[in-house]
Amino acid sequence: MSIHPTQSPEILIKNAACVLTMDDERRELRDEDILIGNGCIVEIGPNLDAPNGINTINAQGCLVTPGLVNTHHHLYQSLTRAVPGAQDALLFGWLQRLYPIWSSFGPEEMRVSALTGLAELALSGCTMTSDHLYLYPNGSRLEDTIDAAQEVGLRFHPTRGAMSIGESAGGLPPDHLVESETHILNDMIRLVDRWHDPQEGSMLRIGLAPCSPFSVSRDLMRDTALLARDKGVMLHTHLAENDEDVAYSLEKFGCRPGQYAEDLGWTGQDVWHAHCVKLDKQEIDLFARSGTGVAHCPCSNCRLGSGIAPIRKMRDAGVNVGLGVDGSASNDMANLAIEARQAMLLQRVNQGADAMSAREALEIATRGGADVLGRPECGRIAPGKRADIAIWDMNGIESAGSHDPAALLLSGPNMVRDLIVNGRQIVAEGQMLTINLKETISYQNRLARRLVI
Ligand SMILES: [Zn+2]
Repeated sequence: MSIHPTQSPEILIKNAACVLTMDDERRELRDEDILIGNGCIVEIGPNLDAPNGINTINAQGCLVTPGLVNTHHHLYQSLTRAVPGAQDALLFGWLQRLYPIWSSFGPEEMRVSALTGLAELALSGCTMTSDHLYLYPNGSRLEDTIDAAQEVGLRFHPTRGAMSIGESAGGLPPDHLVESETHILNDMIRLVDRWHDPQEGSMLRIGLAPCSPFSVSRDLMRDTALLARDKGVMLHTHLAENDEDVAYSLEKFGCRPGQYAEDLGWTGQDVWHAHCVKLDKQEIDLFARSGTGVAHCPCSNCRLGSGIAPIRKMRDAGVNVGLGVDGSASNDMANLAIEARQAMLLQRVNQGADAMSAREALEIATRGGADVLGRPECGRIAPGKRADIAIWDMNGIESAGSHDPAALLLSGPNMVRDLIVNGRQIVAEGQMLTINLKETISYQNRLARRLVI
C-alpha cells in the first residue's frame, strides 16, 4: 500500500461545454480542453493536441468543475440510516438512541460502511473527503477506513476522533464506548507517524479530532492541540452545533464555545470546526482573524433542527467555509452536490434570494473546502493544480431547458458522469471503476440487517 500519489496516465478532457474553474479570477471557459499528466492539470485551452495513446474523455455538452470537497463526515454511520427512534429525535436524544447500536460495530462494519459512504460521495462529485471516526469498538481502527479510501481512490483526510467521558463521569456515551486519554494520545501519535503524508498532492493526511467539548476533558482538548502542533497536523471537532451545545458550554465551562476553543489552542489555520450554527459576531470575528475554518453541514442542521448557520456573515467576515454532508445517521443522504444546493437554499430562507448564488455555493463546495483542509493545490482548475475534476452531463432531464450550465445547483444534475482524482478516473458514465458497487451495497445491507436496532 503506497501513501504517495502514483504516476498516472495522461488524460485529455475534450470540448467541455463549460469549465467552471474556481481559479483566482473565477474564469468560466466555453468549449475548451484540459490536459492532465502526473496527477496535475498541465494545460487548459481550445483544440489541445492529443498525444499518442492518451485517454480522451469527450465532454461535449458537459459542465466541468473542480471535484467537490467534503469537510465533515462520519462514514461509519452509513450503516445506521433512518433508524426508527432516531428519525425525529433532537441531537442529544439522537446520540443516546444510536450509541448502543454503534457499540456492536467491528472492523468489518467500519470498512464496508466507509466503502459505501465514499462511493456515494464519489458519485455525487466528491474527490476529497475528511472523516471523523470517534469510536473504536471491538478492535476497530482508523485503518479500516483508510483501507476503504485507498480502494475507492478518493483523496482522504481521516481524523482520529475520541470520546473519554462516559455516562458514569457525567458524559453522554456509554462507558464501554469511551477510551482512556493516555491510549487516545498514543494512538494519535501512532497513526500520524504511520500514515500522515504532508507532501503537496498527498492522498492521505491524518487529523486529530476529539469528538466534541462535551465528550472529552479540557486536558485532552489542550493536549491534542499541543500534539497536533508538534506533528504538523490539523485539528477538528464539533462546535456550537445547537442551543443545547452552547448552554452546555456556558454551564460547564463558564464561557461560549468560541472562547473555550481559543483558550485551549483550538483556533488557527490548522483548525476546522464542524457546524458552528450558533457562532455569534465575536466568534465569527475570532475565526476570521485566526484563519479557523468551518465545515458547514446544512442538511444535517435541517434534519436535526439545529438552525441556520450564519454562513453569509462568516463569508463576508472572511472566514474559510467548506461543506460537509455529516454522518449518514444525521443526514441519511450523503450526496455532496445536494448538500451544496442545500447550503444555497438555507441562506436564502431568512435572508432572501440574493443571499447566496449557485456559483458561490459551488465555490464553497470546491475551493472553499480545499482551503479549509489546508489544500490550496486542490479545489480549482488551473495549470499546476491537482487534477481532481468532476464532469457533469448537462444532456439529462434535470438540465433540459437550462440557459446556464454553470448554475448547476439550481437545476442539476446531482450525480457525476465522470470523476477524476489525482489524474486517475474513478467514475465513468456514472459507474464506479474502482469497486464493485453492487456487491458492496449488498454486503452493506447484510451488515445493516445484523445490527440490533
Ligand atoms: Zn458530525
